[in-house]
Amino acid sequence: MEHIVIIGNGIAGVTAARHIRKLSDKRITIISTETDYFFSRTALMYVYMGHMKFEHTQPYEKGFWKKNRIELVKGYVSQVLPKEKKLLLRDGEGMSYDKLVIATGSKPNKFDWPGQDLDGVQGLYSKQDLDQLEVNAPNKQVCKRAVIVGGGLIGIELAEMLRTRDIPVTFLVREDSFWNGVLPSGESQMINEHILEHHIDLRLGASLKEIVSDENGRVKSVVVEETGEEIPCDLVGLTAGVTPNIGFLKDSGIELGRGVKVNRFLETNIKDIYAIGDCAEQHEAIGNRRPIEAVWYTGRMMGETVAQTLCGNKMPYNPGHWFNSAKFLDIEYQTYGWVFSERRKKAEEVHFHWRHPKEKLCITIAFHRDSEEFLGINTFGIRLRHEVFDRWLTEKRNIEYVVEHLVDANFDPEFYRTYEKDIVNQFNSDFGKSIILKKKSLKRIFQMS
Ligand SMILES: Cc1cc2nc3c(=O)[nH]c(=O)nc-3n(C[C@H](O)[C@H](O)[C@H](O)COP(=O)(O)OP(=O)(O)OC[C@H]3O[C@@H](n4cnc5c(N)ncnc54)[C@H](O)[C@@H]3O)c2cc1C
Repeated sequence: MEHIVIIGNGIAGVTAARHIRKLSDKRITIISTETDYFFSRTALMYVYMGHMKFEHTQPYEKGFWKKNRIELVKGYVSQVLPKEKKLLLRDGEGMSYDKLVIATGSKPNKFDWPGQDLDGVQGLYSKQDLDQLEVNAPNKQVCKRAVIVGGGLIGIELAEMLRTRDIPVTFLVREDSFWNGVLPSGESQMINEHILEHHIDLRLGASLKEIVSDENGRVKSVVVEETGEEIPCDLVGLTAGVTPNIGFLKDSGIELGRGVKVNRFLETNIKDIYAIGDCAEQHEAIGNRRPIEAVWYTGRMMGETVAQTLCGNKMPYNPGHWFNSAKFLDIEYQTYGWVFSERRKKAEEVHFHWRHPKEKLCITIAFHRDSEEFLGINTFGIRLRHEVFDRWLTEKRNIEYVVEHLVDANFDPEFYRTYEKDIVNQFNSDFGKSIILKKKSLKRIFQMS
């Protein structure tokens, strides 16, 4: 029987295993070093915040694996030997495979900062990081101040987590506005204000120079590059992005870039070896997408896709329109299509931005200057219907249509009842239009004929 070995039991590897089992009777083994069972990494923060126990982040019962004949091996793969079709584990064991799927995810970035390996310095990625956080920052008596380095989605999660235990947080963000490599300036500015209002000491334009040790090899302070200021602290959270976790493949002959290089079929340069999830790097980016996409749902999609190929139905990875969601403290953020920051925006991308005068609510809609084609939307503080935007992007609707029908995309009737007129009035005034809002239509939303 063909033996498929998957390295990594994250969302990508486990989805691949589940779908291979749905489609075939092949022998499946998952090897992973972090935990015995799959868990939802995106829920780690809620464990520290006391909303759930770690066990609740594991969606499958223990019996699931046996019932589905998915063998689980806890171990670290230290080498892949493609010529022999064999893996070596750190404990000296070997394992043969017929087909190999690499799904080893990411690891937090470190940029050779002095002191980055001191006690009390950590990332937030793994279950081990969560356990370490309980040791380093159980409460504000042990951790009198934390410094977080790197202003992205994981940094802000870590800040929120620590604040729930009343631990003072200083947040060093190299850019002059939060996440402004991704968010347009109006949104980024709103998030700056929101972070400060949550009593987080946000330092913009501030990068890490050095982490200073006490006499026991434990962090005592950090030094800020731009100002030379020394900030005393008991925890340093390194959240300056992630990198594919592929160091163990260095001498394997598998083509590596920043990640494991794959084609649209998720195949590497070596026959019968595939890569999926955060660790996979497309030879050529798909449309506007980045060649490496470290997000949950794309890992799941790649897992489903590679399962089809492994079971004889060769299938390209086709992720469709970009979307994503996240949370900035208590503000929900959704994005559909492309709304680029000022830094990445092309000349023909025009933005319509509306922000509520008092509350932390805003939307930005991007459209093409000449054709007026709708390119994408970002929303903060409101929830919109994924399938409606997916359809409008596929149908290449224009901006007027989208503004006119915005109410169809909205889950939250209260919001539009109150603000829709303001939004449309502002759009009309900004762009010299005279759009009149359409009433909500279930027929349109669900495409009933
Ligand atoms: C705190 C946090 C919050 C996040 N929140 C969001 C969110 O809200 N939305 C979103 O879209 N994404 C989010 N992400 C990103 C998302 O979790 C990742 O994109 C996703 O988990 C990647 O899945 P994966 O299966 O590719 O890899 P992983 O989940 O990283 O799994 C890979 C596994 O392989 C193991 N492994 C690595 N090397 C070896 C080896 N040599 N031998 C054996 N095992 C090995 C690792 O230990 C790990 O367990 C978040 C990430 C973090 C850290």
